[in-house]
Amino acid sequence: MNGGRMIFMALGGAQEVGASCYFLKLGENNLLLDCGCGSTRGIRFAPQFNALLDTPYIQDFHQISHVVLSHAHLDHCAALPDFMELNERAAVYMTDLTREIVAAQLEERFAAIEPNISSVAFLQKIPLPNLSLSFHQAGHIPGAMMTLINFRGKNILYTGDYSTFPTLLVGTALLPDVPIDVMILCGLHARHPNYRRRGDTDSALMKILRRIYYALIRGKTVYCRVTQVSKGVELIGLINNFLPDAEIFIDRRVMKIVSRFENVHIPIMREQDRPLTNFPRGPCIVLSTMPPPLKSRMEILDGDFSLHDDFPATVDFVRRVNPKVCVVVHSPPDKIFHANCTLEQVLLNDPDSRTSFIFPQIGEPFEL
Ligand SMILES: [Zn+2]
Ligand SMILES: [Zn+2]
Repeated sequence: MNGGRMIFMALGGAQEVGASCYFLKLGENNLLLDCGCGSTRGIRFAPQFNALLDTPYIQDFHQISHVVLSHAHLDHCAALPDFMELNERAAVYMTDLTREIVAAQLEERFAAIEPNISSVAFLQKIPLPNLSLSFHQAGHIPGAMMTLINFRGKNILYTGDYSTFPTLLVGTALLPDVPIDVMILCGLHARHPNYRRRGDTDSALMKILRRIYYALIRGKTVYCRVTQVSKGVELIGLINNFLPDAEIFIDRRVMKIVSRFENVHIPIMREQDRPLTNFPRGPCIVLSTMPPPLKSRMEILDGDFSLHDDFPATVDFVRRVNPKVCVVVHSPPDKIFHANCTLEQVLLNDPDSRTSFIFPQIGEPFEL
């Protein structure tokens, strides 16, 4: 009997970004938090599901009864069809909007998992045997949710990717109003003390915008490549807002996500925005998920940016939640070595902080 034991094990997305997938055993209940894919140099990698079979926690994937999907970025959702091949019975929870965006991204692979998905709403509570789940706004991207699990009187919060600042398309994270015992934190910048946002908008986003602006006034067409289709939608919002006269041509894959947003009444398109059919002439913006054409005279731009809290905001967030235990995942190390200034070290010197930290590796189990 497992009684009230709580076990955590990362199957992917531990001290790196990509293939986020976290196993949580709460007594007899086995859950997965997220199920994403990563890629290095174009090669796709999935979570290490099989690592679970080398542990005493489960003998068969069918023992995992529930999967919670925080949001529609591929590093959190794209391996769901792989897992459903191992366990076709698990119940999967996500918000309606996440479901829409996941469907548009996974295309034909979505059909096989659709019957298992239940849409959930913010603040909805789902009672399961011996535990309950509830869902809270996470900021970051539309549809993103945090999951609060209550198990035997203990509160466990899985943040997924979150942001405590509003973006063009979504407001800030809204924390549940209960004391948190264990927080599983997607802390992208927890080990990047020099990463700070300037002002309200991510500095990378403002840089993209400035480059677009100067290219357009030089009469050039800008080819802006986005790696995550949902970030393309964010960029359209940004350009519409700051460069209201600019024309945008949008590729098929980003257009698909745009229409999903508009289906749930989040307006994205305006008059100057249209689908990309052939390459336009004259100063305009092409927004595409594909590599740029060779020998083009267009200005090529990388449209990547961060929708995550910076280092000081991450420290503040953990200080505010003040959990007993904080499991930090989705947390790549910095390229530069810093002494004494990671999230853990800053809070160690804070007399009001009661948090102890775990920075797990993939396949390394922890008793919480
Ligand atoms: Zn994300
Ligand atoms: Zn992520």
